[in-house]
Amino acid sequence: MKIAFIGLGNMGYPMAGHLAAHGHDVTVYNRTVAKADAWLKQHGGHKASTPAEAAAQAEVVFTCVGNDDDLSQVVLSETGIIQGMTPGSVLVDHSTVSATLSRDLANTLKGGGMAFADAPVSGGQQGAQRGQLSIMCGAEENVFARIEPLLASYGKAVVRMGNVGSGQLTKMVNQICVAGLIEALAEGLHFAEKAGLDTGKAMQVIGQGAASSWQLVNRHATMLADEYNHGFAVDWMRKDLDLCLEEAAGLGISLPVTRQVNDFYREIQAMQGGRWDTSSLLRRLKQS
Ligand code: NAP
Repeated sequence: MKIAFIGLGNMGYPMAGHLAAHGHDVTVYNRTVAKADAWLKQHGGHKASTPAEAAAQAEVVFTCVGNDDDLSQVVLSETGIIQGMTPGSVLVDHSTVSATLSRDLANTLKGGGMAFADAPVSGGQQGAQRGQLSIMCGAEENVFARIEPLLASYGKAVVRMGNVGSGQLTKMVNQICVAGLIEALAEGLHFAEKAGLDTGKAMQVIGQGAASSWQLVNRHATMLADEYNHGFAVDWMRKDLDLCLEEAAGLGISLPVTRQVNDFYREIQAMQGGRWDTSSLLRRLKQS
């Protein structure tokens, strides 16, 4: 298939690589050109100088950028995807953004005979590199049927949640669940260290029991080593938790732990840790 991929960051770079490895004809665009050049050197394919140019030949266009403003810019600006997309093509967005923007973009594209799917992911940079992402998708059924085989090239779970917007709402559930979990893990590690336990050993034993989690299994060792360069930045988590809290306010419910952890991440940003990964909650605890 002819594919365009816009946004070769921690996540997009390996995802686009899996599409190329599965034999698709991939044209990439990245704002910082050096990343597109590195990708081309590794995977072949083509490079475009604007998102519109990348989208012009594509049957399916993928985006994996930052926040609502970034996605609006790459889709709707004068050199944006919408200027290049042709009727019958589909835009699949892997960024974590608001459900409202996803629905708005779907409506805008529909007017031009194009379709949209929100397909946020979970599994981190490691999951993207290994092709083991969990992908929660909001799309009309016929659109999902067209894109599912492409998503399967880097997804271990690819699930249609409903129509456009439902993927982003599901990702919010994911972030609500994860936020409190990482803080609890940080507190457990902090406690274990202060109590003079062998922390690695403690994690090994409780990791076999009810306290186990993806975060515990994949992050405890790096947290103990004070390494916080694992791809999912605090700045992005702040964006995600703001989205959760905004959506919750609309639903008339409160999310007390999510709100608290969001405030902790705000403190980490003030420590110049916006690009540290989300497990840096332990560093905050140690310094507070
Ligand atoms: P990242 O490493 O910071 O990469 C962001 C990408 O978007 C870069 O290619 C960047 O281009 C591009 N971009 C951002 N704003 C842009 C704009 N206004 N115009 C054009 N290009 C723009 O981020 P990431 O970690 O890959 O995350 C991408 C998305 O996936 C985010 O929405 C994030 O919340 C979500 N996500 C991330 C993870 C994770 O573990 N990292 C997991 C799940 C979901 P430049 O190279 O020029 O900066």
